[in-house]
Amino acid sequence: MTLFRRLSTVSVALLFTTVPAAGDDDASTSPRRRALVIGIDGLTGPALQRHAFGAGANGALRALMEQGVFTRCDHAGDPRCARAHDGPEAGAGFRYETASGWVSVVTGMNATGHGVRGNDVDEQMVFVETSQQHPTFFRQLRERGFRTAAGGVANFLTSREGESIVSGIVDFECGVENGALLVAWNDVQSCNLEWRRADDLESERRDDNLATWVIQRIDDGQADLVMGVFDEVDAAGHSFGFEDTRRYPEAIAQVDALVRRVLDHVRARVSDHDETWLVMLTSDHGGHDVLFGMLGVHDTTVPADRAVPFVVATYGASESLSALKEPVRHMDVHPTIVTWFGTDPGKVDGQVQGIRGPHPKAHPD
Ligand SMILES: [Zn+2]
Repeated sequence: MTLFRRLSTVSVALLFTTVPAAGDDDASTSPRRRALVIGIDGLTGPALQRHAFGAGANGALRALMEQGVFTRCDHAGDPRCARAHDGPEAGAGFRYETASGWVSVVTGMNATGHGVRGNDVDEQMVFVETSQQHPTFFRQLRERGFRTAAGGVANFLTSREGESIVSGIVDFECGVENGALLVAWNDVQSCNLEWRRADDLESERRDDNLATWVIQRIDDGQADLVMGVFDEVDAAGHSFGFEDTRRYPEAIAQVDALVRRVLDHVRARVSDHDETWLVMLTSDHGGHDVLFGMLGVHDTTVPADRAVPFVVATYGASESLSALKEPVRHMDVHPTIVTWFGTDPGKVDGQVQGIRGPHPKAHPD
């Protein structure tokens, strides 16, 4: 090594020690980037805030929020709340349902971009075509060599409901043949997922099973992006009302306990395996009560059906997160995740939140 090269090595080292943000951008020494998307079906923005910051609250969801940046949402009409896609504002028939919500999250597109109006099979079928131009982050990342995993039930992933099969929006990206989805409900791989797990909508252990599976995906170190959509909060909202003050919050507390298990494993990967994690949380839609609070639904009622939670946090990253940019919408998850992996999200309706992009190419080894 020449003297000149020795000197330049020293000066580069000095630069990196005095500018912390640059140090971790050195591709040869930076920790491996991984990401987790926590989807909580039917979790309203105000309900998460009450759960996380109500009297005596000390949960894992609050810890996640305080680890990162999040939207406050005192009530559904609070202008600070994160929002779902445009819904009925996008045109006749667009509703706040599971398929139309999650497809916005995973594509970064607003309602008119993906064209999925709601949960009906015909409505989800539209995504066979629109996904060509607006692919999911699963497919985009997979095509660039990253490994993707997702678990859940319909209408996120095609799943069982007792003896019936109910379709999920992510699987429509893989196409149909003679009007039937190419992905079977129990397939463990698909065109966009290297690890895929769908459960039975009628199983009372579906969220618990999902947490266990997500933890396996975290611990085995293979998947770069892991997404899990918990279902039982939405079910409680339908049965007892999204404004219910006992059983709907109890369902949120149960997911909180599962999220605690999951995040313990994320932190362990950071400390034991030199990884850095981006963790995002949102929901597909909010909800409101009908029949004097006896039942809950979500359809076209704003603002209640549109107010969703939104959290972005990092573990093991040297850079602090920047403040969220308004408007914050659940479709911002897509460009944020894709940018985290050093990849161009393309033209999407959502915007990058929290992280300071663009990041250097972060291809897996
Ligand atoms: Zn629902």
